[in-house]
Amino acid sequence: MKAPIVEIFSSFQGEGLLIGRRQIFVRFAGCNLDCSYCDTAKSKSTEYGTQLSVEEIINKIEELKTPDLHSISFTGGEPLLYVDIINEIMKRLNFKFLLETNGTLPDSLSNLNNMDYVSLDIKLPEHFNNVKHDLTQDNDFKKYDIFENEIKSLKILIEWDTNIYCKIVVLPSTKLDTIKNIVKRLSNEIPEDIEIPIVIQPSSPLNQWQNHKNKLFEFSELIGKYNSVFLIPQVHKILDIE
Ligand code: SF4
Repeated sequence: MKAPIVEIFSSFQGEGLLIGRRQIFVRFAGCNLDCSYCDTAKSKSTEYGTQLSVEEIINKIEELKTPDLHSISFTGGEPLLYVDIINEIMKRLNFKFLLETNGTLPDSLSNLNNMDYVSLDIKLPEHFNNVKHDLTQDNDFKKYDIFENEIKSLKILIEWDTNIYCKIVVLPSTKLDTIKNIVKRLSNEIPEDIEIPIVIQPSSPLNQWQNHKNKLFEFSELIGKYNSVFLIPQVHKILDIE
């Protein structure tokens, strides 16, 4: 059993609620989406990956282990394209694991063994050059399969009783009504007693926010009506580390 791997490396988690934790990142090649802001463009295509076996991946992880290691992050690309490999790695290693997913492959997710942490992206139509839905309009939601699949994935994860958070990358052009409708819809779909924190991640580079800082406060206040909310930029880019 092999999967295309772009890189396996040790660094600090630079996004989301595990920010600052030392991790070993297993970056898979291949993605089912094509986001315009993707900062791992090489991992979108399987052609950049080297086919590695479970043994080779495990050996590399063991080699990179440091005393401050918190967890192993499966990232990409989209790791859920390689569920069998991930299940096998988790079966053979006694670490904590984080899945970083775009959340659009619920059928694959349902075949994955339980994870300790899951970071699930909520993708907005403006993240894609070729997706034209307007989520400020309620009837456009029904046609936006990406979000429908993300909701299905969240429902599976809730059954797992794992640590989940959602991440929304916002752009200076992101409309408040889009975010409002997304969080309203999430609150309708997710049982009231389930708390799923939402991380607002301002798109990098951060200097593009110079004249739009108020919007970040407004996004946070909107989401805060329904969920616990964090504003967390990509710290690895500020530190200039991988
Ligand atoms: S889902 Fe992630 S890896 Fe895939 S294209 Fe979008 S940003 Fe890139």
